[in-house]
Amino acid sequence: MTNRKSELETLRADLTARLSRYEAHQHREGGALDKDFEEQATQTQNDEVVDSLETETRSELAQIEHALARIDNGVGDECESCGEAIDPRRLQVLPYTTVCVDCAED
Ligand SMILES: [Zn+2]
Repeated sequence: MTNRKSELETLRADLTARLSRYEAHQHREGGALDKDFEEQATQTQNDEVVDSLETETRSELAQIEHALARIDNGVGDECESCGEAIDPRRLQVLPYTTVCVDCAED
């Protein structure tokens, strides 16, 4: 549980940093983008890509915040949908998930 929380906090920090790079790109604030991303952006040469990455990152962040809030409330390993325990192996692979595998498949 503690591990998962710190993992989520690390992930949150990463995504927050990434988001600020996207925002810098959108506002043309210098070349702060990382290499992979620059290549990707050059290939498509399209700000829509950054837009959609930004949207995706924001929704991932929201999910992480949500998972962290559930951990703080002591229900981090319970399925949000059915209330059953989420398989620890699933939490290891998807630390930000808040539903069990059965509910995720529905
Ligand atoms: Zn469930």
